[in-house]
Amino acid sequence: MDLGYITGKALAVMREVPLCDRCLGRLFARLGYGWTNKERGEAIKRLVIMELHRLAREDSEEAMKVLKDTAQNIGPLVEHLYNELFGSKPEYKECYICGGLLDRFIEEVPPKAIPLLKSFDVRRFIVGVRIDERVRRTEESIKLGHMLAYGESIKAEIRREIGKRIQLHGFAADFTDPEATVLVSFPSGEVDIQVSSLFIKGRYWKKGRMISQAYWPSPEGPRYFSVEEASWGLLKPLGGERVIVHAAGREDVDARMLGSGRPVLIEVKAPRRRRVELKALENEANAAGRGLVEFRLESFGRRRDIRYYKGDAAGSVKVYKALIAVEESITPDDVEMLERELHGRLISQWTPRRVLHRRANVLRRRRVLGLSCIQHSNNIIECLIKAEGGLYIKELVSGDEGRTTPSFTELLSRRAECVELDVVGVEVIHE
Ligand SMILES: [Zn+2]
Repeated sequence: MDLGYITGKALAVMREVPLCDRCLGRLFARLGYGWTNKERGEAIKRLVIMELHRLAREDSEEAMKVLKDTAQNIGPLVEHLYNELFGSKPEYKECYICGGLLDRFIEEVPPKAIPLLKSFDVRRFIVGVRIDERVRRTEESIKLGHMLAYGESIKAEIRREIGKRIQLHGFAADFTDPEATVLVSFPSGEVDIQVSSLFIKGRYWKKGRMISQAYWPSPEGPRYFSVEEASWGLLKPLGGERVIVHAAGREDVDARMLGSGRPVLIEVKAPRRRRVELKALENEANAAGRGLVEFRLESFGRRRDIRYYKGDAAGSVKVYKALIAVEESITPDDVEMLERELHGRLISQWTPRRVLHRRANVLRRRRVLGLSCIQHSNNIIECLIKAEGGLYIKELVSGDEGRTTPSFTELLSRRAECVELDVVGVEVIHE
């Protein structure tokens, strides 16, 4: 029969299998623009019916037979002509790809997704689609069998159509930084939501000693109060499953974090509310910090910001305040010598003995960028040490039995020990 590309291909497919308007239109989805596949399929069916009718009128017996045999696969659009020609109504068959479920699926899923989005305070979303494997393969085999090069997948159509309908209710599709993914399964109609974490950029201070950064469980309860525990204060205003603190490095449990505070990215998993004033959040976190841990929350961030915080500590500069005791008395000249010798000096450190049980024994080299000391008594000095992130300060002072070199102990030829250590400044060098 003499038909065009679209009508010819469409008729060939429908002579084999029944297709609903949507599933037929989808096989030609990339032809024409700004229409739904339902509109495409309907238009194609009308045209195929008209072509068959034209051929039938030109006395083609073949066309009459094709019309009669294919009517059940075409569907209700052929009803009036069929009745006119054959005086009866054909029995229609269900769509071979979607089982006749797709139209209803697309209408019924958004009303299920919208309350979910609202319950998690989500405005920016994307749609994720799971397709039953049989459906996916059936569609593929039709496209391959008939060499249909202009189609799209049922997955793409569902994603777009569901997304469009949800957007009509004031939500925005966002492919780069969605607040949640609406997960829909075809044909079951199941709808689920994956809520993205909420990220908050800020800084923390540890005002006392014996406070750890991470939660430190033990059989008798937490070993120390922790920055992480303080951050749980955010769960009250935000809801959510848990909080993760991504910090740029960490100080020892017995070191305070003073001065500029330490940059931190706080991740709240599966929050129930996302639009709470930072000040209100800060207040809750600080209340949970009990005056021992303090936060300043600066702005909301994104997942990709993690790399700035988790990256190699070498990319940062730290300033420490160390109180140092020396075994025998030292002179102002000794102090001056220390400042001179260590300024800009590259320090070689084998992993300190105190952390060897949990870290590999490796040699690291970090630079002391500056040193400035005040002598308090004949054997006590207080030093401000500016260094590349990752330098172990207690060992820089003690020498760790020769594992760190040079060290205060080595340069003074007298045992030096860090009695108190505070971090007073942390700068993260962003790429
Ligand atoms: Zn269908």
